[in-house]
Amino acid sequence: MSASWALLITCEHGGADIPAAYAPLFDGWRDALASHRGHDFGALSTARRLARAVDSAPLLFSTTSRMLVDLNRSLGHPGLFSEATKGLPRRDKDAILARYYHPHRDAVAAVVAEGIAADRTVLHIASHSFTPRLRGVTRHCDVGFLYDPGRSAEKDFCRNWLRELACLDGDLILRRNYPYKGVSDGMVTAFRRRFGERYLGVELEVNQRFALGGDEALGSISETLADALQRALGRTAS
Ligand SMILES: [Zn+2]
Repeated sequence: MSASWALLITCEHGGADIPAAYAPLFDGWRDALASHRGHDFGALSTARRLARAVDSAPLLFSTTSRMLVDLNRSLGHPGLFSEATKGLPRRDKDAILARYYHPHRDAVAAVVAEGIAADRTVLHIASHSFTPRLRGVTRHCDVGFLYDPGRSAEKDFCRNWLRELACLDGDLILRRNYPYKGVSDGMVTAFRRRFGERYLGVELEVNQRFALGGDEALGSISETLADALQRALGRTAS
């Protein structure tokens, strides 16, 4: 990785914590909280491994459940608040945003701004995971790379990371902009608009079958992703 690059790892859906003050709102939502709707299984563990793979890559994460407020949705998006919180009065929603949403988004933005001010291009990888089956449909994918196909630097980086991953494990099913589109609403989409060409935003989507398969399966895919990332960064910088 050349000196003109800076890597940043984040995890917006890293846990299913509900602050005590809001616990009563979730009395009827315990099963949902414990499911993929509550958080991204394995995503924080993978994020930690990716951050360790590259010297001094900052890792910013949240372990508060996205069912309180979704850090990966824009203000005004219908999915910002969940069924458990969308009926709250405006002032309560504002309090949740002030305490749990803005601090994370602002901290990530500050690291990006700092990198750009230091004349670097910032590569932001947001670690997520997806449920293997949704509404009865099996998703035939192990790892998805979400990016904006209209931005060549993001496309090139993802192509390199995907290739390196395929070299390390030819059995993995790797897909681009699956199970979601890289340009859908999300933090990286908002930051592309805000920071422009010096910002590269990529969402990593790992199948939760690894995390649900136990520590060994999750550790193995995280390790392989980290190895491939190191190789891809070497290739991108050359
Ligand atoms: Zn997620």
